[in-house]
Parts: sequence; structure tokens; C-alpha cells
Amino acid sequence: MRSDGLDPAQVDGLGDIDADAYRRALHEIADLIADYAESLPGRPVLPPVEPGSIAPMFPTAPPEDPAPLESILADYRRLVEPHATAWNHPGFMAYFPTSSSAAGVIGELLMASLAQNTFLWRTSPIGTELETVVVSWFRQALGLPEGFDGLVTDTASIGSLMALAAAREAAGLEAAQRGLPARPEVGEPRVYASAEAHSSIDKACMILGLGRDALVHIATDDALRLRSEALEAAIRADLGAGRRPIAIVATLGTTASTSVDPIADIADIAERHGLWLHVDAAYAGVVALLPERHDTFSGWERADSIIVNPHKWLFTPFDASLFLTRRMTQVRAAFSIMPEYLRTLDRATPTRDMGEYTPQLGRRFRALKLWVLLRWFGLAGLRRRIEHHMLQAQTLAGWVDADPSFERLAPVPFSVVCLRWRPAELANHAGDPVVEAFLDTQNQALMDALNRTGEVLLSHARLHGRFTIRVAFGNLRTTDRELARVWHLLREHAERLERAPAPSAASAERTPVQAVAADSRPSGG
Ligand code: PLP
Repeated sequence: MRSDGLDPAQVDGLGDIDADAYRRALHEIADLIADYAESLPGRPVLPPVEPGSIAPMFPTAPPEDPAPLESILADYRRLVEPHATAWNHPGFMAYFPTSSSAAGVIGELLMASLAQNTFLWRTSPIGTELETVVVSWFRQALGLPEGFDGLVTDTASIGSLMALAAAREAAGLEAAQRGLPARPEVGEPRVYASAEAHSSIDKACMILGLGRDALVHIATDDALRLRSEALEAAIRADLGAGRRPIAIVATLGTTASTSVDPIADIADIAERHGLWLHVDAAYAGVVALLPERHDTFSGWERADSIIVNPHKWLFTPFDASLFLTRRMTQVRAAFSIMPEYLRTLDRATPTRDMGEYTPQLGRRFRALKLWVLLRWFGLAGLRRRIEHHMLQAQTLAGWVDADPSFERLAPVPFSVVCLRWRPAELANHAGDPVVEAFLDTQNQALMDALNRTGEVLLSHARLHGRFTIRVAFGNLRTTDRELARVWHLLREHAERLERAPAPSAASAERTPVQAVAADSRPSGG
């Protein structure tokens, strides 16, 4: 016997370990996983290491001999855990927090152990059919009509790629069969999305051979929402120039500020011009679980396709993204290919082979993880948590609004607060390039200072050209203690910042900025 209790004949010989040894190993892993979760508040959110410093801690050559589990786990604790960004830390408020609930982790373990590959019905009858059940549960819970069908994919990026591939088929380009090169009759395809749309839309255009030039970024209004009259004008201009509009992407919850495009107006435009309407609700779509928030989404039921990411704000470990569509036939047209070896011969033709609808063949059984999640929390439990995160954001927004040294840079429709430090004496100098550059530098320094504490992790965006600190709620473990703490840290570290740009000694003239700098020096200084 080895020190970890595993039989060397089983580890070193052929085959896998027996059931008892497997059970012992899994019990040990259970402790490890729970220990890590317990230890999170005491760890820094961002590991204090520099790029390139971790790989040299590992041997350069692969191991020739088997190692005992004990030694693998010791190295895991020593080399892996401390160098992981702690997404599950209660102070993780960067990007869109993706917290891995216990339910999600259990779902992942079950997925791995059941070893399903869901590309054909026969390669996973339960995988295929539970996926349709889970998609239908979500459709109902999100308040979408019965016409929506769909599947579970890995990411929103792939969901948007699938939507635009289907849109291309729906527009009659026949690209799946004939490709696009040397086909002048195809014209210049065009896709429309707001200037705030996620870069995955650009990537989808790149991958689909439409090119980034095919994506028209439509201007946004003061609240960073797509301007529908600008969209209409852009489509008309393209039609007038002989180009070929194929799809519009509306975003409900943009990445930087969580703004909400005017979906009903956009749906009207899509209908008027016969264009595929894809809705990217990767982050905010889960808010539609709250019946009282259905107004925010009113019009999305007219979309051709919608994506919502459980791995953003639904406590699901990465990855799981819902792809919902009223036009599965077009999705199939974009991706179906059935070589002989994949044909089902021993059963009646299955109602659905999932691999015909997706860019890749092999597929994980993500529906299992989502089924566990929905059962575990129930819709009521999910709604309560989402409401709580939006309340946390509103509370912080209220504190920011009441403090003359801070300002909010965007509305807070969901759970993200976009803010910057801006001392009261600079309020009347907004727009002055020197002041704006100064505020950009100081706010970046402020964010970096908070992130260096290890207590919280914040990320940034640029809104209306300004450096913006984003505080994102949505983490299952963020309590009101961390909410109060992040605000305390922001104010405390802001106190240490220079309050005005240094007057330029070189300049003979006193600019308004220099006047501010001079005026704000402590009296008697
Ligand atoms: N859409 C929006 C609005 C996002 O914010 C993001 C990522 O943050 C994505 C799409 C891409 O998500 P994924 O990583 O699932 O591809």
C-alpha cells in the first residue's frame, strides 16, 4: 500500500483504481474543496505574483513515474490554490462576478463522473433530453413564449457566433454550403450593434468570414444605449449603397456600464427590414427571472435568438450559456453535417442530435449542472439572491451620489455601479482635458490601490472617454460587510490622492486648472 492508501498495482498497472480507493480519494477531495471555500476570506483576491513567476515553480520535464494522490494534493495546495485569482472571494467585484455555488460545483463533479458526450441522442439520451427540459424550464422562468427552443453552449461568444451563422443562412447567403469567397452576388453583408456591444460580436464576424468591417457600430445616447434612429439611418444608407444587412445585435446589459438597448424599437426595425435580431443578454438576462422586471425586457420575445449566461450571474461555475432561439431550423442549416459514422442505425431517427446544431461536435452535459442548480436554489432562491445584489448596487450608488468627492458615470439598472473619484473643487472643470487626464490617472491609481489591499478586486471601463471604476455585485458570497468595506476603502484611499493637477511651472499663463490647483492648496501651506 502507498501512503495515500491506493494500491500501487492499480495505479501503476493497467486500468483505473477500484471503487473503494476511488471513494477514499473523493472524500479527500471533498475536504480539499470545502477547506478552500472556508479559507477564501483570508486569501488575497488577486494573487500577489508577477506574470511569468509561476511556471518556473513547476518541473520543466513531465513526470515519468506515477505520484501518490497525497503528493499531488500537497502540490495543489502549495502551487495551485495560492496562485488562483479568487473569483469566489467575497471581495471579488470585478468584471461580472462568476461565483461557483456549491450546487454548481456538485453539478460539475457529477458531469465529469457520468462522462457523457452529448453530440448524438444515442451518445447521451439523458444528456439530449434533459437539455430540452432545462431549456424549457429557463424559457418559462424568463417569461419567454413557447416558440423559443434552444440549447446550452459553453459561452456567450459561441452563442453569438451561432446566431450570426444562422442569420447568414436565413438571409439566403448559403454560406454553410458555398462559402463566401468569389461570390459577388453575396454583396457586402452588414451586421449592426451598438458601440458598447461586446467584442464577441466583432469576433463572430471575424470567424464567419464577414470580417470586422461588416460590423457597423451604432452610436449610443447619454445613457450608453443604442440610438434606434441612428440604426435605422445606417440600415437605410447601406441598402441605398447596395450592401446587404443581415442581422442586428441588441445588448440588454452591456459589459462596461450594463446599459439596456431600446429593444422594442430595435425589434420594430428588425421586422421592418426582415433582419435577424439577436439579443445579447449574457449578463443581465437572469433579471428576467423577476416578474416585476419584465418591463426591462419587453420586446426581447420578438428576437430570433437570445443568449443568457448562467456562468455570469447565476452562481454556475464556468462554463454554461443558454442559447434560445425561435429558429432552430436555421441554426441546423448553419451547422448540420452527418457523416456516416454518426448516423443512428439501431433506433428510430432521434428527434434531435445536438451536434447538428453547434460548431463543435463533442459537447459537455452542462444541462446536468443547470438542473442541479435549479433544483437546489429553486427559482425563488435565485430571485432572492439577484434582488439582493441589485439592492447592494443601489445602496452603493446612493452613497456615491451623496458624496461630493465621487460621481456616478452611468445609471444602475442592475448590479454594477460605475463611478469615479472627482473632488468637489474639480466639479466645474469637467471636460477640461487636463482635468480629465488627471482624473483618469488618479482613478486608476485609486483602483490599483484597492486591488493591492487584497481585500477586494475591482475592474475598470472607459465611459464617455473617462476612466471608470466598476463595482460589480452578483457574487454569492459578497455580504453587506464587503459592500460597506469597498466603500470605506474607496473613500479612505481617495483621501491620499493629490486633489488637483500640479500647476505647470513652464506655463506663464494661469489656466483654469492651475487656478484650481492653487485654490485647493491648504491655507497657510
Ligand atoms: N456579452 C456580454 C454582454 C458580456 O459582458 C460578455 C462577457 O463579459 C460576453 C458577451 C462574452 O461572454 P463569454 O465569456 O460567455 O463568451
